[in-house]
Amino acid sequence: MNRAPTKRQDDWRWQLAHRICDPTALGMAPHRACALSESGGAVFPMAVTPYYASLLQPGDPDDPLRIMCLPDPKETRRCEHLRFDPIDELRHSPIPGLVRRYPDRAVLLVSTSCPVNCRHCTRRSMGKGHLTALTPEGFQSALEYLTERPEIRDVILSGGDPLTLEDRALESMLRAVRKIPSVDIVRVGTRAPVTLPMRVTTELANMLARHGPLYVNTQFNHPRELTGQAADAVARLVDRGIVVSNQAVLLRGVNDRPETMLELCRGLLRARVRPYYLFLCDLWEGLEHLRTRVDEGLAIMEHLRGRISGMGIPQLVADLPGGIGKVPISPNHIVARYPDRTVLRALDGREVTYPEPEPARRKDRAISGSTP
Ligand SMILES: *Cc1c(COP(=O)(O)O)cnc(C)c1O
Repeated sequence: MNRAPTKRQDDWRWQLAHRICDPTALGMAPHRACALSESGGAVFPMAVTPYYASLLQPGDPDDPLRIMCLPDPKETRRCEHLRFDPIDELRHSPIPGLVRRYPDRAVLLVSTSCPVNCRHCTRRSMGKGHLTALTPEGFQSALEYLTERPEIRDVILSGGDPLTLEDRALESMLRAVRKIPSVDIVRVGTRAPVTLPMRVTTELANMLARHGPLYVNTQFNHPRELTGQAADAVARLVDRGIVVSNQAVLLRGVNDRPETMLELCRGLLRARVRPYYLFLCDLWEGLEHLRTRVDEGLAIMEHLRGRISGMGIPQLVADLPGGIGKVPISPNHIVARYPDRTVLRALDGREVTYPEPEPARRKDRAISGSTP
């Protein structure tokens, strides 16, 4: 069981220790790298595991995987409608390292680092005087916070990537959270299956399964990320009863073609990953070039419907500015509503009338006993 990895590339600690942080090492032209360094650190730092770097297509500047991990001078562009911390996480952080925007759910930030720094990161400011990860004392305060608020039933471990932590550290956190009787489920938000699949060892999967019900939410954004190694990592989790779902981010040049998204969702189902959310890109400053129009998101949803089972269709959502929460955005199939019928648009465009049930008659109500 505890066999040492046969190759150093199979060792997740080696992968983390050898993350590539110089854009020219991934083929960025020196003049572009220069433009980046002249931005004076305004650009979120680069970090890519050798594993993820091996998936890039050398020499293709439009490679979707490259777009997700290589910094771009466009990130220094400022736009009126983009901001720092668009979903207002700092204001929704009652204690440092804990974010709460819903009555029943809380997010614990347990790590500041990631195997790959995604260019579209929603926590791009972690450790830059903004959100911080929980310190050991902070973790105790978080436990008290959760214990005193039994309405919180769902605790999400996030970061950074929680799977940058050692098994032992993770397990002691899980054990402590699980001791709180009001916590029903724990979720782990991690891109490790995508960016560092060798992190999902049999030992880790066994450990996570011991602290269930536990859900893993990951983020595959492009079919080429679904490698054999990634599918094996997912399988180790699913085989042990851990539900794995996907929270993709819709990104210009990455997965904004309907056929790409369909291929991704089909691949996810094959890997036993349930597509959960498809996020519109956050309104963070520096991300304008990665954003798509709402229309494009809706067109993708229309394309999926009818071509893949409902089990393979994620919910398109926007995380609203101001930290108000996520809202679903759906193609509209309701053409008109009347007291006795609703007119619906079928997938082929035909309009079909769906009758409402007859109003309950007086006699029926008498039978149900609501009137004397
Ligand atoms: C996204 C998010 C959640 C989880 O939302 P679900 O819709 O339940 O997946 C919980 N808390 C915060 C602060 C979030 O941003």
